[in-house]
Amino acid sequence: STMMEIKNLHAKIGEKEILKGIDLELFKGKVHAVMGPNGAGKSTLSKTIVGHPDVEVTEGEIIYKGKNIVDMEPEERALEGIFMSFQHPVEIPGVNNAYFLRTALNAKRKHQGLKPLNAAEFLRLLKEKIKELGMKEEMIHRSLNEGFSGGEKKLNEILQMEILEPDFIILDEIDSGLDIDALKKVSEAINQMRSPERTFMIITHYRKILDYIKPDYVHVLKNGKVLKTGGIEIVDALEKEGYKIFGEE
Ligand code: ADP
Ligand code: MG
Ligand code: MG
Repeated sequence: STMMEIKNLHAKIGEKEILKGIDLELFKGKVHAVMGPNGAGKSTLSKTIVGHPDVEVTEGEIIYKGKNIVDMEPEERALEGIFMSFQHPVEIPGVNNAYFLRTALNAKRKHQGLKPLNAAEFLRLLKEKIKELGMKEEMIHRSLNEGFSGGEKKLNEILQMEILEPDFIILDEIDSGLDIDALKKVSEAINQMRSPERTFMIITHYRKILDYIKPDYVHVLKNGKVLKTGGIEIVDALEKEGYKIFGEE
């Protein structure tokens, strides 16, 4: 069934219209890859979905779990299960990784009518996940992303995802700058999180990650519009011919 339906979405950043009528249907339990040349609007689309304050929607709808979320606050969207990993995760000095995560998790639990986890309960959960991911335990005591290597930052995003258990996960170039071992590790963790109740939107420039995370659908974005939707065969065509096969350039 449908998790999110994006209808005729137009959005601008500043005075510039970047999304020019996006139509996209994203299904429950499926992995959707979004590809497209640099500047196509992929990151703007993800920012629009999470409600980033830089983006202004001028037309269209984002129907998520049956509700139009265009006017919903970003915090509310997160509570409703929308999660995004950022292309360039920010370092937040002084904010402890574990503290940040527990606050986010307990906000969500409260929203779901569940009782908050106390520090000990949370630590148990965190250690279990960290072990599963093969992360270093000391990472939880460091400030958020401070001094993390590229691979560690990505694993930290995966950790956040594992703890928060979102329903709609956007990964914007999670593969960028990862060596092959880190890419495999991140892909495995993502595959483990695939579930019939969850939707992934994986934004990428490169084919490699899609060899590990086999997407159910591939969408090609160009110039603020969806140029093509299909299966993995689209990626093969892109690999051979480049994005020009779907456009005039
Ligand atoms: P992609 O992720 O597909 O590479 P983006 O969504 O980052 O594309 O960018 C799409 C277009 O929007 C580009 O032309 C880019 O220059 C422009 N853009 C993105 N962010 C901003 C911003 N903060 N201010 C002005 N223009 C922006
Ligand atoms: Mg870009
Ligand atoms: Mg981008």
